[in-house]
Amino acid sequence: MTPNITTSPAQLVTMATRLTVLGLLLSVVCGFWIWRQRVPPCHTPVAYKIGQLDPRFYLDDRAVYKALRQAERLWETAAGRNLFVQTSTAPLTVNFVFDERQNATQAQQRLLPQLQQAEATHASLAQSYLTWRRTYEEQHLHYTTAQEAHRARLQAYNAEVDQWNAQGGAPLSAQQTLAAERSSLEADQSQLRALTQEIREIRHTLQMLEEQDKTLITTYTRKVRSYNWLSRSQRQFHKGEFNGTDITIYQFRGPEDLLLVLAHELGHALGLKHVADEEAVMHEFLSEQDLDPLTLTAADLQALTAACGPR
Ligand SMILES: [Zn+2]
Repeated sequence: MTPNITTSPAQLVTMATRLTVLGLLLSVVCGFWIWRQRVPPCHTPVAYKIGQLDPRFYLDDRAVYKALRQAERLWETAAGRNLFVQTSTAPLTVNFVFDERQNATQAQQRLLPQLQQAEATHASLAQSYLTWRRTYEEQHLHYTTAQEAHRARLQAYNAEVDQWNAQGGAPLSAQQTLAAERSSLEADQSQLRALTQEIREIRHTLQMLEEQDKTLITTYTRKVRSYNWLSRSQRQFHKGEFNGTDITIYQFRGPEDLLLVLAHELGHALGLKHVADEEAVMHEFLSEQDLDPLTLTAADLQALTAACGPR
């Protein structure tokens, strides 16, 4: 037997009311969702907060917020409206993750003063070498001249001695003159020997300077090679990333470069895509941009208009 189920008219009215309310609610939710989809992203400021900040970046929250505010202003000035807001409950986090990229950058930064120091030492060695070389040449010329004069005097002395010997001996006055000339020649000879020793020492100093510079150049070349290798390897990797929900910063050289990386990733957070202009903030690689001061190029402004609409 089928149970006899009956519904009273009052119950039917209640059910219809409930269905209408539910339908209305669904329409409101769907309408809101559709409306949210139609509103360009730049009309609601993008909320963000700092997430993970690795201490090896040597940055604190204050420095990061300062850099973020600077990066924000770049886009906001161009758009003529507020595009970002910092809140502690923001879903978008800005993270600083330390890996081989920043490690390589820091290694390169450590190399730079060493290279500059080596260049300064090389310049000073070269200057010192030049001074010693000039002294060497002067002393060498002095020695050659003195040696020639000595040789001529010695020849004259010997000729005179030979002449007196052929005549069977010299008178006393000539003997005295010859003896004086002999001792003068001996003193001259000893001066020449001292000069030879001095020249030898200068030559030794020059050799030492050459060796020092050779060692310095070898080390310098090795370091330059490392520096260039680090530069090349860095050109290939991305300094930051926006994955649709979070921004992660991996590498930057200094405050100006950090501003560029943050501006680039904030651009992505606004919905901007990469542009072809190599000097643009929104170019895929961050290496050719002018950082002093960082400015948006025409390609960046075009991308901003495409994502956010006209000013
Ligand atoms: Zn990018």
